[in-house]
Amino acid sequence: MPAQWPSTDQSKFITGNLLADPLVQDALAYVQSVVPADLLSIPTSTYISLSTVKYNSDVAKNCYWPGTACVRSAPGNGYQADVYACPQTSTWGISFDDGPTVDLVNHQDSLAIRQQLDKMKIKGTFFVVGSNVIQNPQIVLDEYNDGQQIGVHTWTHHPLTTCTNEQIVAEIKYSEALIYNATGHVPKFFRPPYGDVDDRVRSIVNALGYSVTIWSKDDFAADQTTTSPSIAASLENTVISSWFAPNRPGFISLSHDISPFTSGVILSILQYVQQNRANISLNIVPIGTCMNMPWYVDGSAITTTSKTAAATNTTTLLPSPTTINATTTSASATASPTTSNVPSGAHRSAALTLFPAFAFACACAALAML
Ligand SMILES: [Zn+2]
Repeated sequence: MPAQWPSTDQSKFITGNLLADPLVQDALAYVQSVVPADLLSIPTSTYISLSTVKYNSDVAKNCYWPGTACVRSAPGNGYQADVYACPQTSTWGISFDDGPTVDLVNHQDSLAIRQQLDKMKIKGTFFVVGSNVIQNPQIVLDEYNDGQQIGVHTWTHHPLTTCTNEQIVAEIKYSEALIYNATGHVPKFFRPPYGDVDDRVRSIVNALGYSVTIWSKDDFAADQTTTSPSIAASLENTVISSWFAPNRPGFISLSHDISPFTSGVILSILQYVQQNRANISLNIVPIGTCMNMPWYVDGSAITTTSKTAAATNTTTLLPSPTTINATTTSASATASPTTSNVPSGAHRSAALTLFPAFAFACACAALAML
């Protein structure tokens, strides 16, 4: 175990003695021994704000997502394929980011999602943040004991292309150690904050034993359409309604158990599915299950396939955190191809509302949320 844990203040990058800990240095040495030097030397992005970064390298060559919508669909020299959509039709890999949250309200949000999943006899993937886990490890243990898949979502929730190789290793190893403390297992799935990855980040994450797990574009687009905890209107929107279309391609969705708004959005969707099961035949599963891959390093995988008939429509993505108190940011609409506006994350309240899909189309970067 490390000599000390990083701060719970997510505004602080991991620096100083925390980087010198053998937990980090031993893993970094391993990364440097197996990852091609040209990948490790890809320049870091410039950190501008929580949700905005500026790319400083060849964006086409180094495959940035979501800024340039580049997904590695096959392994390459030094990296593995990204996980971004369930391969089977009518299969929904459901995931929740940014928890466990620290106050009672948000704890109740996490719990409410878990209870709704239990009612439907389905499981999902929870990508947890180390700085939140350390404040309430019991929530993660409860999720684990309930049969939910636990994945890693860094310690500070900074966009990783802005971090040094050493910091990326630290973000993962401290979080991993804490999750192991809480559950006794080391995850194999990793979600980068804001989805912010390039080949440098990918190669480091992969070398440490994780699959880079993003989400399908369709799901991402849906995120932007949701503006209230009640998605009644959104369910009439083709973006979300398309999630439930018969025989639709498999997809991975992104949701957040970080605030009443974000959890309210996914709860509304799940309740809709529950109420319309007769018309919806969608298999809702954790991401590790739909990818047919072990969830944890010890090889364990809970392959419960809960065939909940669910669904009706299709498309994509998930509700993101966005808005309830939000101040919509349109920033990325004008971003250059090398500037990525990462929409904040649930916690960081606002931002997005508009981007995604078309931010990509115009090559502006707007990462997504979290
Ligand atoms: Zn996040």
